[in-house]
Amino acid sequence: MATVLVVEDERDIRDIVRRYLEREGYSVLTAATGAEGLRLLSDGAPDLLLLDLGLPDIDGLDVLQEATRIGVPVIALTARSSVDDRIRGLERGADDYVTKPFSPQEVVLRVAAVLGRASRTSSDQAATFGHGRLVIDTARHRAEFDSVELDLTPTEWGLLTTVAGTPGRVFSRSELVNRVRGYEFAGYERTVDSHVKNLRHKLGLDGAEVVETVLGVGYRLGLSRDQ
Ligand code: CA
Repeated sequence: MATVLVVEDERDIRDIVRRYLEREGYSVLTAATGAEGLRLLSDGAPDLLLLDLGLPDIDGLDVLQEATRIGVPVIALTARSSVDDRIRGLERGADDYVTKPFSPQEVVLRVAAVLGRASRTSSDQAATFGHGRLVIDTARHRAEFDSVELDLTPTEWGLLTTVAGTPGRVFSRSELVNRVRGYEFAGYERTVDSHVKNLRHKLGLDGAEVVETVLGVGYRLGLSRDQ
């Protein structure tokens, strides 16, 4: 399994990203400073670097440059307020970007996507459900239902991939909030219902059968996974 190095000085973010990645089976190394990050970049042989660009000791650019030099793909974590030329320039070096505040689920999906791109051999792993009606390709961040590509918001994508992660299992609203939107969005349970409504609408007439309501409990995927 792949090793991910997380270089981030904010402890809360570091911890939650680590937890989510480990839950997906990744091996995770963490560093709170750029210097430690550089050390682990060479000593830890990571397969991917999740890099906060605003580090306390050295310029995140320097860490990015070193990762690029040794061929380690990078997902940059950027503050929403930092959309300046410097960050734009980085787009040439980083494989992907996540803007704070982000959902940990989104980070996990981006990691899978970048690693999928990095190793083509294992990238063809679209999962299908309900005898091929629903197709979810996390590596390419695409979903199809009845052969029509779904144009999903990040939240809808997170909801669908979460319930599809364990077909038939019921997820409570609070669990969905926690998994899909992360810690910044605590208290938004009631908005899950409106996101589910929108998701079902995009799924068409059978939307309510794909994402089923379990009264008084939450939601679940109403299709079983194909073998
Ligand atoms: Ca920072």
